[in-house]
Amino acid sequence: MTDNLKKFQEEVKTNEELQKKLEAMKDDITIDKLIAAAGEYGITLELDDFAPSEDGELSPEDLEAVTGGGILNILFSRKITCHRCGAVCSGATGYAYHLATTHL
Ligand SMILES: [Zn+2]
Repeated sequence: MTDNLKKFQEEVKTNEELQKKLEAMKDDITIDKLIAAAGEYGITLELDDFAPSEDGELSPEDLEAVTGGGILNILFSRKITCHRCGAVCSGATGYAYHLATTHL
């Protein structure tokens, strides 16, 4: 996970307004929407910030960071299977990255 994505994760954890925004878009999430949402809170994200780590899994620190966290769990750790090709992605962020890099 990149520093910018970590910053975004921290912001999501503590910002209820941002949590509500992300909840509202979670079923139809895209990289553009995430980047725009982060930008509203002064966090600059790029497509590469959403690239999965090399082994494709969250680190123990990442998992700890999302423990107990509704929208954080959905965004970063819940497994999502791509309907088009069957790839298994880590969280809505991983899925949005997969869509943007594989199916555009
Ligand atoms: Zn796919």
